Amino acid sequence: MSHPSFSNPNNAFGPPLIDNFNRRIDYLRLAVTDRCNLRCVYCMPAEGIPFMPRDQVLRYEEMERLVRIVAAMGVRKVRLTGGEPFVRKDLIHFIERLVTIPGVQQVHITTNGVLTRPYVSQLKELGIAGVNLSLDTLKPDRFQQIARRDALPAVLETFYALLEAEIPLKVNMVVFDHVNSDEIVPMAQLAKEYPIELRYIEQMPFDGGVGRSAEHFNYARILQTLQEAFPDMHPIDLPESTARIFRVPGFKGRLGIIGGFSRVFCATCSRMRITAAGQLKTCLYDNGVLDLRALLRAGASDETIARAIREKILDRAADGYEAEQRARREAAASMAEIGG
Ligand code: SAM
Ligand code: SF4
Repeated sequence: MSHPSFSNPNNAFGPPLIDNFNRRIDYLRLAVTDRCNLRCVYCMPAEGIPFMPRDQVLRYEEMERLVRIVAAMGVRKVRLTGGEPFVRKDLIHFIERLVTIPGVQQVHITTNGVLTRPYVSQLKELGIAGVNLSLDTLKPDRFQQIARRDALPAVLETFYALLEAEIPLKVNMVVFDHVNSDEIVPMAQLAKEYPIELRYIEQMPFDGGVGRSAEHFNYARILQTLQEAFPDMHPIDLPESTARIFRVPGFKGRLGIIGGFSRVFCATCSRMRITAAGQLKTCLYDNGVLDLRALLRAGASDETIARAIREKILDRAADGYEAEQRARREAAASMAEIGG
């Protein structure tokens, strides 16, 4: 499909997206599937979530069209997530198309790394801007306990292949009490040895309804644990980052803490999300504010879709607390549907 109106990505659909709190929205997180080959305990129940019938998941052409539209509205960074992006067939061909979209300057991927290794050289060739690899533990038995699958060796192969390819690498570790909180310091050694960003993630209430809040290990406790182990650690200021970033003298990489549950980064949030079902989310904590799939499949024009998106961006919640209140969440969503 050709879109002549996209030749000038800055002007096609009006000025860049700025929300009702003067936050510039230039980052899209796109969930390419809700399916996954792992069953992480903080993300979904052992039996999985009821995955959507395939025809309810956006087709690649539909996703590409949406990315073209939002890129014309000023989105510069796209992150592919899921579910597990690499369980979706032909992902690499989709990425080949994404990187050519006018206006899109960076394509990133968040992956569990199990199926990723064979694609690393192609990702490098395509100029992928970075990979976030989920890795909650370095212990095989614990990996099996957390992910309910025995896949640590495959993930580590991906880790080393990404390093070797010099693709910017961030490692995401979801921290929870009595499960892997004793690995906060050992995992930091990865950032000592390699030029990566090791990010500790506060557990959020998106586990498909399992409810493990008793194991919550919050931002403050993660910070305290790190400060005790690394007294020379000091914060560095990165505006618009959702992580607080720290340097430790002697480390090749750096450390970060993502306080998603404490909602410490809402004031500078620059992101929107599209779920695999084509729901637009203007906050992690909302329930979806616009059914883009319905618009696409009803034959809406690019201009109509752009206008509908802008309207929702101009009605964003101030922060995750307000979004949560507005959503009056009925059922606990899974992060695999939302995309993290
Ligand atoms: N499957 C891919 C992966 O695991 O990297 C991409 C999707 S996953 C939903 C994206 C990120 O969300 C992962 O880093 C994962 O650890 C994180 N995540 C999932 N459930 C979470 C929860 N309840 N709280 C905090 N982070 C969570
Ligand atoms: Fe799958 Fe990622 Fe959720 Fe784990 S966190 S179950 S790898 S989507």
